[in-house]
Amino acid sequence: MSTRPVISVVAPVYNEEPIIDELYRRLAAVLDSTGEPWELVMVNDGSYDGSAEKMRALVERDPRVRVVNFARNFGHQNAVTAGLDHARGDAVVIIDADLQDPPEVILQLLEKWREGYQVVYAVRSERRGESWFKKFTAKLFYRLIYRITDVNIPVDTGDFRLMDRQVVNALNSMREHNRFIRGLTSWIGFRQTGVTYVRQERFAGQTKYPLRKMIRFALDAITGFSYFPLQVAIYASLLFALIAILAIPIVALLRLSGSNIQFEGQATTLVVLLLVSSFQMFFFFILGQYVARIYDEVRQRPLYVVADVWEQQPEQAQGMSDVEAAGRTIPAAGDNKVAEE
Ligand code: UDP
Ligand code: MG
Repeated sequence: MSTRPVISVVAPVYNEEPIIDELYRRLAAVLDSTGEPWELVMVNDGSYDGSAEKMRALVERDPRVRVVNFARNFGHQNAVTAGLDHARGDAVVIIDADLQDPPEVILQLLEKWREGYQVVYAVRSERRGESWFKKFTAKLFYRLIYRITDVNIPVDTGDFRLMDRQVVNALNSMREHNRFIRGLTSWIGFRQTGVTYVRQERFAGQTKYPLRKMIRFALDAITGFSYFPLQVAIYASLLFALIAILAIPIVALLRLSGSNIQFEGQATTLVVLLLVSSFQMFFFFILGQYVARIYDEVRQRPLYVVADVWEQQPEQAQGMSDVEAAGRTIPAAGDNKVAEE
């Protein structure tokens, strides 16, 4: 690309074949209206439907479109990370590919950016076309995160946001695993503000966030930004200690006084055992969540593996390693070289 883009748009794509053409059409219309040079970085997160072919056709048609192909599915947050790594603009917008985040809102984000804000996040005032379960759990999730984390993560705010180059550089330098990008952005600081919008229905297809992924995501958010779950154990232990202090003398006295009140062995023991051990297991689980994430950091695996990058032949692939440069041109399809991170 000859001119460096002012605006980059990053869209993670996982099996979104019926959406890609419409996404491009809507984005191009909005971005062209700004009069600024722009680029669209799509990250193909291991799609196995026809998404890749659709995106490839876009790259062939428009030099402003680039596609980063992952070697497999690495998950939404890693796909966004790759998009941020590859974006070159002064302002970078993260947007969901499914058009739940209307591209037209980007104009409002840009307006705030021009006013001098370095992070402009889009707050959902309403969510359309989602199940009551999703709405309810999402509401609960954002409020819980807000309460128990140390950084102020705005509620009802997804990854749809604009970030200034300075913020993107800071974020790109943070290579932690199990990422919760909206938390990381809040953590970075700078001047931040929000604009509200109505989250739309999916343009087509199904959500790529089943319950299992939602729980995992929530755990990443909580463990990534709070020690609260670790501290809960102390309250439970104080409660049990209090019960012990009261119960032990009472039981001992009753026993010594030869009272008729009997503590029939089996049932009492079973109740106490099950109660206490379930508490303990629960705290093992919490501890395990943190330990597993420490393990992820220690192994230092890359956050994602790129199979290849599609873009129209740049004049020169400057400052890139041979391996990476090899994967950067369109004819490189079928070339199996892998560029890590
Ligand atoms: N996505 C992805 N990798 C995944 C899951 C989702 O790149 O493993 C993309 C997906 O294609 C979409 C965005 O992340 O562009 C948000 O996913 P989705 O719309 O399914 O989530 P929801 O809006 O239902 O929370
Ligand atoms: Mg969606």
